[in-house]
This record gives sequence, C-alpha cells and structure tokens, in this order.
Amino acid sequence: MIIQKLKIVAIALLLQMHLDAAYLFAQTKSITRQETLRGSVTPEREWWDLLHYQLKVEFLPDTRRLKGSNTITFKTLKPGSKMQIDLQPPLSITKITHGDSQLKFEREGNVYWVMFEKELAAGTEEKIEVSYEGVPVVSRNPPWVGGITWGRDDLGEHFIVTTCQGIGASIWWPNKDHGSDEPDRGMQTSVTVPEQLVAVSNGRLKKTDHNAGDKKKTFHWEVLNPINNYGVNVNIGNYVHFSEKYKGKGGVLDVDYWVLAHQKEAALKHFKELPRTLEAFEHWFGKYPFYEDSFKLVAVPYPGMEHQSSVTYGNWFRNGYLQRDMCGCGVGFKFDFIIVHESAHEWFGNNISMKDAADMWIHEGFANYSENLFVEYHFGKKDAETYVIGTRRIIRNDVPIIGVYGSNREGSGDMYPKGGNMLHTIRYIINDDAKWLSILRGLNADFWHQTVTTEQIESYITKKAGIDLSRVFDQYLRSTNIPLFKFKVNGKTLSFNYERVVKGFAMPLRVSVNGKESVITPSETRQTMEFADEIKQFDVNRNFYIEVAKE
Ligand SMILES: [Zn+2]
Repeated sequence: MIIQKLKIVAIALLLQMHLDAAYLFAQTKSITRQETLRGSVTPEREWWDLLHYQLKVEFLPDTRRLKGSNTITFKTLKPGSKMQIDLQPPLSITKITHGDSQLKFEREGNVYWVMFEKELAAGTEEKIEVSYEGVPVVSRNPPWVGGITWGRDDLGEHFIVTTCQGIGASIWWPNKDHGSDEPDRGMQTSVTVPEQLVAVSNGRLKKTDHNAGDKKKTFHWEVLNPINNYGVNVNIGNYVHFSEKYKGKGGVLDVDYWVLAHQKEAALKHFKELPRTLEAFEHWFGKYPFYEDSFKLVAVPYPGMEHQSSVTYGNWFRNGYLQRDMCGCGVGFKFDFIIVHESAHEWFGNNISMKDAADMWIHEGFANYSENLFVEYHFGKKDAETYVIGTRRIIRNDVPIIGVYGSNREGSGDMYPKGGNMLHTIRYIINDDAKWLSILRGLNADFWHQTVTTEQIESYITKKAGIDLSRVFDQYLRSTNIPLFKFKVNGKTLSFNYERVVKGFAMPLRVSVNGKESVITPSETRQTMEFADEIKQFDVNRNFYIEVAKE
C-alpha cells in the first residue's frame, strides 16, 4: 500500500495513517476472539495447506451484489475434520460441497466452521467448493478502507474495484484469510460482468466468454504462482488494453496496460516510467518474480496498490504522489511514486510476503527503501540519499513498527519512512555496497515465493553482513526511541556516547574528523579518543538515522 494521506500543514507534512490516541488505545486494548481468529494460525487452519483457489464471481452493479463460489484445493498436513473458512458479513456462504457431499457449517462472525463428514487422513489432496453471495461492504476510502467501490468513471460508465489490504480478502470472497498460507499452484479468477464492461484480475487473461442472451461476459484470469490474499483484485470498467515486451533478467516479460478508454493517450506517454522501474529493481533485487504471470498496470479510481502481477494505478499520470513530493526535497518529482513504490512490492510483499500482519514493515519498509534505490539507479547516489533522508520528516515515533502478533494488528505507519531509513542506515553500517547488493538480491532468491517472519529477515541480513545487527533491529523496529549521539570536542580529545538506546546497542558510526573519514563504535558508556591534531571539524555521516547533540 501507500502512506494514507499527506496534508500540508504550514510547511510540515503529517502522516495521517494512524491517528494518535485512538490508535495507541487500539494497540493496548485486549485482543478480541474475532481478531485472534483472523490473525492467528488456529487449529482449524494449521492442519491443511492451500494448493489452489478457483474463484468464480459475478458482479451485479444494479443491485450491488456479488454471487459466486471458490473451489479450494488443499493438502492435509495432518488428520482433520473441522476447517476455518473466512467470509465477512454481510456476505454469506450458501453451500459447501466436498465431492458428492454437502458439508455442514456454522458461522461465528467473520468465520465459518466447516465440518467434514469424517476425519480426513493426513497427506491427501482434497477440494471443497464454497458458494457465497450477498451485498458486500462498500469501501469508504479505497485502498485504505477495504470493500467494493461501485463507482462511475468521468464519462458515467461503471468503474468497480476491490480493495482489501488490512481488513482481508474475506471482505469480498471466501478463503483462508491469513498471510502464512498461499495457494502453491496459484489461482484462477473468473469474473462475470455486464457485457459492455471489461473485468481485469491478476495474471493472464486466458479467455473471454460472451453470453449474448444474458448480456454478460465472463473474463477468465489465471495466476500460476503463489499469491497473497490481499494481492488478489478485480477491476471492472470501460477498459482498453495496450502492451509491450520487456527484455529483462528472466527473458521476455509481457507487460500489459489496462486503462479507461479516455486515459489511453496520457497512459501511452506516461507509462514509459514502467520499463525503467523494472530495470532498476531487476538490478537491485534480481529478476521480476512472476514472469509466468506477466506484469500489468491497471487504472483504478484510488492512488494504487501492489496487487500481484496486476499493480493498480491512480496517480493522475504524473510524477510525485498525487502531485506531492514525499521527501520535500524535490527528488520526489523525478518519478511516479505509485509506479515505483507499488512495483517494488512485487519483490517485497508479493515475492517475499509476511506471515503475520505485525511484520508488515517487510512489505512497506522495503518498498519505501526501494524508492531511493530507484533514484540511485537513475539519478545517482546523492539524490537517493537526499530522498530517503527527506522522508524522515514524516516519521512520528508514536508506537513501534512491529504490530501485535496473532491479531492482524499492524504496527505504526512509521513502517514506511522509518523502515526505509533503518535499511538505509544498515547499508551504511555494512559499508560495502557490493555486499549490500548481494544481500538485497539474496533475500529475493533465498526467500523466493515464500512467506517469512521479521526474525528470518533479521538473521539473514545479520549472517550475510557478518555483523550482529540484532540490537539495531530492536532499536528501530521494537522501540520508538531514536538513538541520541552525544559528543564533546576538547582540543585533541573527542568523547561520546549514545543515549535512548536498547541494551547493548553499539551501532558503528561513520564520522569525519578534520576532513578524514573514520568509523567509531559508540555505546551507552562514555568513550574518549585522542587525535594527533586539534579537532577543528567533526561531523557524523548524515545517512545514519540518529539524532546528534554537541555538548
Ligand atoms: Zn506499499
């Protein structure tokens, strides 16, 4: 996703994502049973592993209803007879079949408990078909508030989209709504709409059926790779299509663009931004993770979202983010924020996905950080540094970046700029650009198409860097304090220490003394260094996200 809203208040921009008191209260109040069911691996989820989804859904704009089914193919990991399937009211499951049998089920809020006729043995492949229908939740503010948007385009035609990050895909279709399990063999999505409309979903369009009698069309889309639930989307409108071939690290990538008819001219010009985005990220992260499923940009009536192989776009065909500059330094106008940020999620978010929503910084911290890598690739290191450092102004340090495990509660919106600045800081701790590049590529290769935890990412980077970064991660992900570096110069003597740090924090710092760069390793304990000459100049490298105080 993207940071929610930036409001200009005098010259400062304030992050509006998580509103102060209400949010802090939400983080400390006790976890409800519904949150546990949504956000944890319950016993009714852990005995089976997703293999495939086959979603068929009809969108009925006149009545604002959905009607469809999801055939869920899964492997039993151990014996089981009771299954959790998620679908949020006011949608309802109407029938569940397993082979020739109709299964019993009962509802508990957002969850359905599905009872098999008899216990299924371990190690078998099974399939159930879940039929559902109803009037789904309408999104009040896509993409930050999930649901269906039954909109109209500028010319009055239907423009209907789904968004569900956070609240979960079960707001519009029945599934196993937890990040830890993705369908290993991918997903088919067949969308039926009034015949004058076009439906665009993830992956490749396999075929289109036209039922002239009913005046309906069905668009059959297919994804071959594992896909996270919130990355699944359907967009319906008066779409036209154009495409290009991108010669990338994985061969020839099919790149498709789906925009409304009246947007085509602007898109043909502006989407030249996309190939150079892919080029930058294939350099930093390795090949695009879903060549089989192609890549596309799809126009939507909200700013954007990282829907897998189907990045949605609503940034007005202009650079910046809704005509603003995220860093306040000018560099943000050198690129289209939505194309760059959301495409970065194909690597961090879709290729490497969080198991638990508390670890969402893995998506957003790296995506924020990727913006500066894009800038570095195309405009040089100085602009890149200025950009990522510039985004510090929207860090709030309200609550930790890591949220509450097992509850689908995300951490602070700081996961974007603070996550990005933590990664930028770590690059400067490692102080070896070739090694850092190999870590970024290595993450994507070694966690290819996997779901992961923060601990896995931390220990991977620590191991590859050969530096214990555990306290650095603790400081920036699990506390709200920014390290304070205090120093004093007295003739030839420099004394310094950290304050406001987690126990054992001793992050090396690159400093300049009389024009000469060196590395010091402050800690909470005061240290003193003697130099050969009087210290006339002393600076801390600006790339480290700390505060500095001269005594
Ligand atoms: Zn994002």
